[in-house]
Order: sequence, then structure tokens, then C-alpha cells
Amino acid sequence: MSPSPPRRPQRRAASSRPASYDESLVDAELQAYLGDAPSRRIRRLRRLSAEERQRETETEALIALSLGFPIDELLPEERPLLPPAVADAPNDYIVVRNHILASWRADPAAPLPRARVLETVAATYDHLVAAAHGFLAREGHINFGVSAAFPAAPPPDAAPLQGFAGSSVLVVGAGLAGLAAARQLLRFGLRVLVLEGRARPGGRVYTMRLGKDKAAVELGGSVITGIHANPLGVLARQLGVPLHKVRDRCPLYHPDGRTVETRLDRTVDLVFNTLLDHATKVRESLGQAAERISLGEAIEKIRRLYHVATAEEERMLLDWHFANLEFSNAGCLSELSLAHWDQDDPYEMGGDHCFLAGGNSRLVHALCDGVPVLYEKTVKRIEHGLDEVSVTVEGGQVFQADMVLCTVPLGVLKSESVVFDPELPEQKLGAIQRLGFGLLNKVAMVFPHVFWDEEIDTFGCLNKDSSKRGEFFLFYSYHTVSGGAVLIALVAGEAALEFEKVDPVVALHRVLSILRGIYGPKGVTVPDPIQSVCTRWGSDPLCSGSYSHIRVGSSGADYDILAESINERVFFAGEATNRAYPATMHGALLSGLREASKILRAVECRADSDQKKYSLQKSPRPPNGALEDLFMEPDLAFGRFSFVFSSVTLDDPEATGLARISLEKRLPLPVKSDESKEDQKDQAPAVQKADLENFYLYATITREQADRLQHSSDDDKSRLALLCKDLGVKLMGYDYTCDEGSDLILGILSARKARKRLQHPKNFRISR
Ligand SMILES: Cc1cc2nc3c(=O)[nH]c(=O)nc-3n(C[C@H](O)[C@H](O)[C@H](O)COP(=O)(O)OP(=O)(O)OC[C@H]3O[C@@H](n4cnc5c(N)ncnc54)[C@H](O)[C@@H]3O)c2cc1C
Repeated sequence: MSPSPPRRPQRRAASSRPASYDESLVDAELQAYLGDAPSRRIRRLRRLSAEERQRETETEALIALSLGFPIDELLPEERPLLPPAVADAPNDYIVVRNHILASWRADPAAPLPRARVLETVAATYDHLVAAAHGFLAREGHINFGVSAAFPAAPPPDAAPLQGFAGSSVLVVGAGLAGLAAARQLLRFGLRVLVLEGRARPGGRVYTMRLGKDKAAVELGGSVITGIHANPLGVLARQLGVPLHKVRDRCPLYHPDGRTVETRLDRTVDLVFNTLLDHATKVRESLGQAAERISLGEAIEKIRRLYHVATAEEERMLLDWHFANLEFSNAGCLSELSLAHWDQDDPYEMGGDHCFLAGGNSRLVHALCDGVPVLYEKTVKRIEHGLDEVSVTVEGGQVFQADMVLCTVPLGVLKSESVVFDPELPEQKLGAIQRLGFGLLNKVAMVFPHVFWDEEIDTFGCLNKDSSKRGEFFLFYSYHTVSGGAVLIALVAGEAALEFEKVDPVVALHRVLSILRGIYGPKGVTVPDPIQSVCTRWGSDPLCSGSYSHIRVGSSGADYDILAESINERVFFAGEATNRAYPATMHGALLSGLREASKILRAVECRADSDQKKYSLQKSPRPPNGALEDLFMEPDLAFGRFSFVFSSVTLDDPEATGLARISLEKRLPLPVKSDESKEDQKDQAPAVQKADLENFYLYATITREQADRLQHSSDDDKSRLALLCKDLGVKLMGYDYTCDEGSDLILGILSARKARKRLQHPKNFRISR
């Protein structure tokens, strides 16, 4: 809506611009216009006692903590993205940020708009709400996910971000990282195409359907490790998919079926943990030298020194624990770095470990919904220049875009099956080579019925041969969630490497003999499975391994290096780029969200630098009529107010711009020369002798202030009071605005040009 037109023709000399205004009269006129109307401050504080509010603040801080936010500090990546004033004194901001996080996590089924947060926070903190909500939404801490409320398209109220619709991103890989990123980028309004080498999405998350009942069998990522802050838990809630807590009881059996005695079990468990504690002490005393030693080497030395677990049964039991450790790290102990193998421990997600009913592919398919994915497009070459990227797939088809996000597994990067041109930086090549990418394999079986204890989800079996300690050492039962009698046997450590060469028939025979060894003596007949599958993640060229670990010579910093982008054109996501949550499904998903926001920032920076390029050519004063032209098409208008902004992102709360307020001034009517004194005597009262002149006042304003004005009231007088009294904004006349605001006017003109340019999308150029 534009301001109402003047009711009478302007009486000044013809001018291309609207009425100018005497700067010195601004305050007086304004006061006259406003009268003594009280400032109408919006009150949105909920009625809580101080004690209740304190309790709520503490609870929200704990929720934020569980989501990985320090209790009284900003995240390292948070600080540079905040306005300096907020970053320098962040206490109030942190309270507001925690409040937003907790509010969204309380009901992640629907997006949490900023306006809703504003209703629950005192008006004095509006700027903090803008900063925190902006940060959390863009970085994927809130308002991410699947379901109808989170389509893979910009939300209806996100019109300003449409300005970036021209930027295109190719995502290589449709695993959790690639899909999460693609979805978020589509929500940001960018153009996205996913290129996936396989004929299916999900990558290392693969739920196969086995048996006549199509039971869900996890061949890759299966357990949601720690449900409290886990983004996969958010997706499950959004989809209404139930989770099953993996129960703690895990009986261990000897190969002859005897159950390991509880006392011995506890003793060796203690020995195992004490060995790890000693290894930690050794690492501390060795300092730098620990970088060159493996965890396995340190444990072996300590074990020999203390002569622990020397009896065969103890040794077998201790081996079982080592196999379990090798399983969680997808690496042999002899490979893991003593110095850094457990660097991600502080970030462990709290809460129960869970299975997802029906299998994790349900999450994958929900993430895929609405995301354009081309299957069986194995990327062979990524060429990246200063202006665009070019991606060649097997068969020679070439895809071009502004940016590429590479989410291929570390194993693929190590195999060099994707060529980067120019080559990846030396640093990144070093990190790829240093980090470990180990193996975990599975034998998945669907039986005609459950023959094992239904009250357990896991059980283990010891092995006489140390070198085979990881072979079928642990069984997962999925009968509670899969829709069938599903058992999965795990193969970890050295045994996982050997397993890749074993014939599946032989492998299945071995598993069944172990199961029959355990259950036969109990009088339980183990039937042949209806169907079974053996994985070979190491021989699969689209992953070449299972997941990453910190090998001797590497450290957590290598994960950060893998995450570094190249020239803001080539970006990297995937579990092996997540220092805090590597080797996990949630780590992959979070890395995708992280890169989506990095890509958005890169697009904005590029647009901003274009804007700077334009402003270098500026003249000291904007061309005549520029101010009027700008307000011909305001970016925002309501009542007597209209606004134009200098940012390419129109909803950027910190975008500065100009407000124009249309006002009227009473002017005395000029006395006509032929009017006699007598006539004047008979004239109507003074008020009729005044004419209403329409004039404009201007002010420098932020987008956030403009939004506050818009939502504060329907009454322009109250709005003006809010602007001048509460927000302390100084109004200016036309000349002053042109002189003092010349840079801003030119900035707004440039931003407008850049916005228009971005609105013309560049097509993906697909050629052979
Ligand atoms: C056996 C196993 C068990 C696991 N268990 C768990 C668990 O219980 N809990 C847990 O949290 N995590 C577990 N994980 C780890 C988890 O599955 C992974 O960390 C996560 O799925 C990785 O996701 P991503 O997107 O980083 O990579 P991926 O899922 O591997 O996605 C990468 C995608 O890129 C594609 N690709 C590769 N190369 C190319 C190319 N050249 N061109 C085009 N496309 C290409 C791949 O096909 C794949 O789809 C397990 C993994 C395995 C293998």
C-alpha cells in the first residue's frame, strides 16, 4: 500500500520531487502531529513470577546444553555471525537463544516463526530475538526437517530469500548429509540438483526388505545413538514414527552356549575400563609422543605390565570388549590414535539409544521428498573455477552450476575415484590421507520365528581366537521394530577385513554354527533363515569402507580440514567432516545443514561484493530524482510509511534502509490581493484559512525496526511515536537525506540492481 496522495495540488513551484521540509522544524512539526499521545509500547512479557522465570531460564539453558550450546558462552561459529554489540555482551542474547531452541524442540512438528517468539519475549529484546532466530534458523538448529510443514521449498513467508533463486548447487551424494543439505538449500530458495551414484538414496543408511513379510533390515547405520538432542529424533517426531529404546541387558555367551558368569563379566568389564583409564594417563604423560602411538599398542603394554586377564576365559572376555571398541570406531585398535581416538566423547548425545520402527530408510525417503535426485550418476570429475563448477559423471555427461557440495564418503576421497581440477589443496589431501576409514560388516538374517530371548535386543558371543575376536561377536535383534524375526550379526576389526573375501554361503554357515552353539545346549532349535544378506562395505566403490576414525598421526582437526570449502565454490559435507559427531548418522545430517548455511552465506557475500563493486562507481551525491525513484517501488509499505533497504536479502534484520513518512502540514492560505479587509473580517474561522500541504520526512532505519513498526499497531500516529520516542530514530528532511544519506541511497540502488539480477535464474546447463 502506498501513502495516500495529497488532497490538494502542491502549491510550491513545480518540482520533480515532493515537498521539501525545513530541517529545523522537524521536531516541532512532529510533536504537533503526534500531540501528547502516550508512547504505546508493546508488552509481550508472559505473566511469570521472577522465580518461575528463573526456573524456566535454567531449564532452557539445560536444553540448549544438551543440543551442544555452551551454558554461558557463544558457539565459536556463532560469534562472527552476530552484530558486534550482541557478540560483545552476549548474556541476554544467550537467554533468548536458549528460549528459542527450547521452544522449537518442545514442538518440532511445525516451524517456529520469529513473530511467535516475539510474543513471548519482552519488547526490549526484539533485536536479540531477530539475531538469535536468524542465526538458529539459518544454521539449521531450528525449523529444519521433513513432513508437510517442512517442504523442500521456501516457506510462503520467506519471499525475500527468493532473491537467491538464481544460484545453483550440485550436491554429490544422496546420503543423509547430501539430502539434508539439498532440502535446506531448497528451503533457502536456491536451485539444487543431487547426483547420486547408486540407484537408491540413503548411502550408508540402507534398510533392505527381506522375507515374505518384507521385514526391515538395516544393512548400514542402524542405532540412533543418544536420542536427547539427536536431529534424527526430531525427524522421527515430525513423521510420527515410534522409536524403540535399545534395552541395556546384553548377555554374553561362550561358544559352547554357557552364559558368562555375572561376576566374571563384571570383573573383566572393570579390567577393560581400567586399561582405558591407564591408557589415558599414559597419553597425558607422553604428551606429543602419544601422537605416534596406537591405542592398541598402549593397551597391550599396560596389559602385559599388570598381567591382567591371563586366564583363557578372561582373555576371551577382554577380547570381546576390544572387539566392541573396534566396532564403535570401525577400526582396529592397532590403527586408532592413542592421542585422539576419543576426541568426540564430550559431544556424545545424551539419552537412550534407539531403533526406529520400520527402519531408518523411512527418514531417508522423507528427506528425499521434493528433492530432485538423479540416480546412477557416478561423479568422476569436479572442475572448479572462479565463476562456476563443472561436474562430469560416468559416461561423460556434464553438469554445471554455481557451486558443488561434495558429500562422498572419506573412503571415496581416499580412493581418488573422483578427480578434482584444480587438485584439492595440500592440507585437505593430507587430512584425507591421515584420517582412518575402517570397516564394519553385517550378516542380516530373517528367521521363520524368534528363537532367542524376546526380552533382549543384543547378545554377544566370545571367540577363542584373538585374531577373530570381532567375527560375529555381537547380535542385534530387531524383532521389535522390523516386522519380522530379524537378527543381525556384526563383524568388526580385523575380522571385518577378512569377511570381505569370504563367500556369503560360508559366512552364513559360520553364523548359524555360532547360534546353534549358543542355543542348541539350551534345547532350542535354530532354524535356517528365510533370507539373509552379507554386507561388503569395504568393496563397495561408492563408500570403500564403513565410517571414519582417528588413525595414528591424525587428529580431530583433520575433520575440520575436510569440512573446509574451496573458494566458496566447492563445499564438503558428510560424517567425516563433522569433528563433534563423526561416524554417525546424525553427524552426517548435521554436516549437511551446516554446509547449507555456509553456501547461503557464500551466495550472500557474492551478492554483497557485487553491490560493493557498484558503489565504487558512485557519485558523491545520488543523481537527481534518485530518492523519489526509489520510493516509487518501496520494499515495504503500510499506512503513511514506506521503506527501501540496502541489503540484497530483504528480510535481513540488520539491513539498513530509508523510511519515508508522508505527513501533512497546515499552512495559512495566502491572502488574495483582491480580498478587501472587510472580506477578511467576514471570513470563516482560522482553521479554514489553512491549507494542508503534504510533505515527506525520512529516516535511516533497520529492517528489524521497520518490522516492529509494521506489527506494532494499525495507527500511524502510534507508529510515529514508537519510531521517534521508543526507537529513538531521528527524522530528516529531503535535502539532508540526500546529502548525509548519499552512500545509503546509492547502496540501496545497487542492492536493487543485484536483487533484480539474482531474480533471473541461471539454468543448469546440462550437456554431453
Ligand atoms: C555397517 C554400518 C553401520 C553403521 N551403524 C551406525 C549406527 O548404528 N549409528 C549411527 O549413527 N551411524 C552408523 N553408521 C554410520 C552412518 O551410517 C554414516 O555415518 C552416515 O550414514 C553417513 O552419511 P553420509 O551422508 O556422510 O555418507 P553416505 O551415506 O555414504 O552418502 C554418500 C553418498 O554419496 C554417494 N556417492 C559416493 N561416491 C559418489 C560419486 N562418485 N558420485 C555420486 N555419488 C557418490 C554414495 O552412494 C552415497 O549415497 C554405520 C555405518 C555403516 C556402514
